Amino acid sequence: MTSTQSLYDAFKERKLKLDMSRGKPAPEQLDLSNELMAPLDTYLAADGTDTRNYGGGVGLPEARALFAELLAVPAAQVVVDSSASLSLMHDVIVYHLLNGAPDHAPWLEQGQVSFLCPVPGYDRHFSICEKRGIKMINIPMGDDGPDMDLVEKLVAADARIKGMWCVPKYSNPGGAVYADSVVRRLAAMKTAAPDFRLLWDDAYRFHHLGEERIAIPEILDECAKAGHPDRAFVFASTSKVTWAGSGMAALASSPANIAWWTANAGVRSIGPDKVNQLRHVRFLKNADNVAALMERHRQLLKPKFDAVLDQFGKLLGDVEGVSWTVPQGGYFIDLVTPEGQARRTVSLAKEAGITLTPAGAAFPYGRDPLDRHIRIAPSFPSLAEIGVAAEGIALSLRLAIEESQDL
Ligand code: PMP
Repeated sequence: MTSTQSLYDAFKERKLKLDMSRGKPAPEQLDLSNELMAPLDTYLAADGTDTRNYGGGVGLPEARALFAELLAVPAAQVVVDSSASLSLMHDVIVYHLLNGAPDHAPWLEQGQVSFLCPVPGYDRHFSICEKRGIKMINIPMGDDGPDMDLVEKLVAADARIKGMWCVPKYSNPGGAVYADSVVRRLAAMKTAAPDFRLLWDDAYRFHHLGEERIAIPEILDECAKAGHPDRAFVFASTSKVTWAGSGMAALASSPANIAWWTANAGVRSIGPDKVNQLRHVRFLKNADNVAALMERHRQLLKPKFDAVLDQFGKLLGDVEGVSWTVPQGGYFIDLVTPEGQARRTVSLAKEAGITLTPAGAAFPYGRDPLDRHIRIAPSFPSLAEIGVAAEGIALSLRLAIEESQDL
């Protein structure tokens, strides 16, 4: 028996139960926002709106103002609605499919449409496309964003390529930050489709792990400058600022797109949860205060990421073909295995009591062509558990590689 096998067996004997499958905030992070539970002293918004009643489809003025400050856009170009930015992304896509962009035919009437999907990427983006019948085209992702030569070539040639998913900062799962030049090329590139859209998911805009608060060019400004003011929809939420699923979500875009959104979304709701918006604005106050709260998240998260990186360094540093990302923000580490080893590693980890995101999940249709990527989500387990979990993952990977060499 190899020493890896005996170490793995001993690990399995500990009968641990650790979940590292999703990027969920840990309870102590959620506790940072417990003040949200305090009763509000008024239900009136600044403009006198009674937040308990219907209305205000684009969000409370103070909630729009807060996101405007956070996203560096005018408040008139922001809608605050729903508690999940994913639902806003979904609806933007569905409205394009059913009703079309302003002055354009519905995507459903334009044949089989496609989206460009930088990979590895966010599984829930890909599920939206799959469920709504949009074909997905893989685009390789580097440290500074998607392969722009390929993107430019594809969008210039095919009018049925209607959109592209972008997580521009601290991407899920690789932690990539788009270079300034990538942002500008995306804004300026020639697309065969006049109704081409960038779904700019700024989910990790404030979620720094390093000392530096990295900033990249604002896509709406860049698109406007390049003469494509309606190209981008920007999405953000407070899911990983306050409470995941009980926060506020926002979209920002051009004035024409905001009018288009309002007309489309107006038929599905008589107004968002403005009481929640009011309590959030009272709690979050302004961008400086949000930055201070995010620093407290960072203090909790950074040691967890360090614990994983430390174990990987110790146990995988000498293993050929294995690498991992060292993110400067966001919620994930991308562990890259030798070809054909990701699936087996995830299943060995499962047997050893560690639940990971299924291998392949970070790719359209769940298919990682080389079976190499494992998304590691260090946020939810406690600091004490996280190093142990990373040890178990590393042992599983070592064992998977040794098994394959035995064959
Ligand atoms: N986008 C990305 C890239 C994410 O990683 C996540 C959460 N894992 C979300 C969106 C979900 O955001 P929300 O809770 O606002 O729907």
